[in-house]
Amino acid sequence: MKKKFLSAVLAAAMVLTMTACGNDTQAPAPEADNAAPAQTEAPAETESAGDEAEAAPADNAGGDGKTYIIATDTVFAPFEFNDASNNFVGIDVDLLAAIAEDQGFTYELQPLGFDAALLAVESGQADGVIAGMSITDERKEKFDFSDSYYDAGVTMAVAKGSEVASFEDLSGKTVAVKTGTNGSAFAKSIAEEYGFEIVEFSDSPTMYQDVITGNTVACFEDYPVMAYNIQQGAGMEMPGDVNESQTPYGFAVKKGQNAELLSMFQAGLANIKENGKYDEIISTYTK
Ligand code: GLN
Repeated sequence: MKKKFLSAVLAAAMVLTMTACGNDTQAPAPEADNAAPAQTEAPAETESAGDEAEAAPADNAGGDGKTYIIATDTVFAPFEFNDASNNFVGIDVDLLAAIAEDQGFTYELQPLGFDAALLAVESGQADGVIAGMSITDERKEKFDFSDSYYDAGVTMAVAKGSEVASFEDLSGKTVAVKTGTNGSAFAKSIAEEYGFEIVEFSDSPTMYQDVITGNTVACFEDYPVMAYNIQQGAGMEMPGDVNESQTPYGFAVKKGQNAELLSMFQAGLANIKENGKYDEIISTYTK
């Protein structure tokens, strides 16, 4: 009990440190279960900046005229989401833009949804994916990853005022997960032990909504994403039972493919970590 309380306090403290004073973007909340996330307009092709970055691979610095298709999630704030002015923004969106500018490559960002983004890369319909995607050993069998640009663990979240305070309280109940995510894998790994059922959703806002309306009693989501949404007013809370293992986020390409894109991403990430741009982007969304 004490431990849970302590982790709740810690979690609350982290929320405050990580997400105090964000912008006042509406927490995404589609009206119904079947609400597809609002179609986001992919930003127009990013113009090649033509900067010769120091660490760029010699054979492809400045790009070769190719427009890379990069897949992402639809709504996964603060990593990708539509802001109050309906611009598609976020840590992933800005990091990719800064890295492409640094390396001088051109891309088109396609917000397909998380599971769909991974499938698009696997099937060769997209060249890369940046979607708050956790680097896991299982995924390394299908994807090549960049270095990590963020770390996140999975948390359980419930509707505000819910009596569900721990995994034990999930017994005999149904929880919501997002298809193909770490949160889903974690929920599945403990479902039998705690005796709960699982329903899957293809996007985070629909999953939250299902919990808020009480169809399901909890969901499993990446901690910083849940914290951000709660801070933005989502009617949910994190009771404190969290999976503490932190998984790094990386940019990914299909295994063995697009090596030049991956090395440009790597080089650009290293450059923007060095020149302060990376910190600037992170603090834009997490201050
Ligand atoms: N980080 C989680 C994963 O990789 C969730 C990503 C997401 O929902 N966009 O599974």
